[in-house]
Amino acid sequence: MKQLPITQETEKSLFFHNYARLPIAITHGEGCWLVSDDGTRYLDMIAGIGVNALGYGDERLLRAINAQAARLIHASNLFLLQPQFDLASTLLDISGLSKVFFANSGTEAIEAAMKLSRKRAAMTGRSDKKEILSLSNCFHGRTYGAMSLTAKARYTDGFDPLLPETGMVTFNDIADLDAKVSAKTAAVFIEVVQGEGGIHCISEAFLARLAELRREFDFLIVADEIQAGCGRTGKFFSYMHFDMQPDLVCLAKPLGGGLPLAAVLGSEKMADVFSYGNHGTTFGGNPVACAAGLAMIEAIHADGLMEKAVQTGAMMKSALQELASRHPQILDIRQYGLMIGITVDKEAKAYVEKALQKQVLVNATSQNVIRLLPPLCISENEAQRCITVLDEILTEENN
Ligand SMILES: *Cc1c(COP(=O)(O)O)cnc(C)c1O
Repeated sequence: MKQLPITQETEKSLFFHNYARLPIAITHGEGCWLVSDDGTRYLDMIAGIGVNALGYGDERLLRAINAQAARLIHASNLFLLQPQFDLASTLLDISGLSKVFFANSGTEAIEAAMKLSRKRAAMTGRSDKKEILSLSNCFHGRTYGAMSLTAKARYTDGFDPLLPETGMVTFNDIADLDAKVSAKTAAVFIEVVQGEGGIHCISEAFLARLAELRREFDFLIVADEIQAGCGRTGKFFSYMHFDMQPDLVCLAKPLGGGLPLAAVLGSEKMADVFSYGNHGTTFGGNPVACAAGLAMIEAIHADGLMEKAVQTGAMMKSALQELASRHPQILDIRQYGLMIGITVDKEAKAYVEKALQKQVLVNATSQNVIRLLPPLCISENEAQRCITVLDEILTEENN
């Protein structure tokens, strides 16, 4: 096999042009650090887009993956698979929900939740109950159903026609919510903390009104916990910060400990919505991914990583507020555990590049938001390193 240089030029020649990748070739990771092919170490405040909750090289995760891979890598959902049972019962214990469907990716979890929503609406006997609503500025995924719920033109332009009977409610706008939902509404999809949208939290009043309208119009509330779930905000699910019970919960990103895995959890009233043959996937619930997911959840509990996310997140917020008092480029800071958004007065991409030169990996989203999603195991020293580098960058800009 010919060895191609691992560069941006080769990338352009090999792949469709849908990713704007950083110009470094990552070879491996250690703890909260990624190492590139020239040996440079980068502090990772992205964690594979909120996937690598335990950072890199966690022994418990590796043991679980190795042990399961040695026994059985794949068998399909034609069989009863112990790792699926173990992870499913753990997720149901944590959530108090009743049923699980495993998929491979976030967007697939959303598709399954959309199908459950429409099927359940059909079972109410109302033939016009088909509408699925989402909230402005949301992100739910790239496949046709999930994309139809996703707000931004950048994600949907050129892909018409989208799924019919979908619509959007303005985020946290109770009057708009009142105007949009009706007996035709089958489900409302929410992110309690919007990730891709720039780290924005849903308001308590909006959630309370949504729950009230659910009683009146009998629709489902679907919590997309793909980015905010699995402990990142300091509770296992971000909706647990509120007095609210969703009907369906979608999980992915960190769920498989870095392997592709997603899940939809459903309440008792959803238990019999799917019947045999209604839905399925070849790979969903892969045994190695499930074993990794279970090890990841056990490690989150054993290491107190949710409590740590609260503490480290609070420390970062106060440090960032101190930066904001000296650097007018910072317009706003939003922090929920280790989900942090920093709104800046220009394209956040500029800061991503400058941080990269100082060996810190941060992500830009929503044009002018620097998004930090570090591993949950990040130490205070490492978090402080990120703050110091941001301080340097913002100071250099002023000079
Ligand atoms: C990433 C993400 C998705 C899509 O997940 P994929 O695994 O990329 O398909 C959906 N919803 C939210 C909130 C996400 O952050």
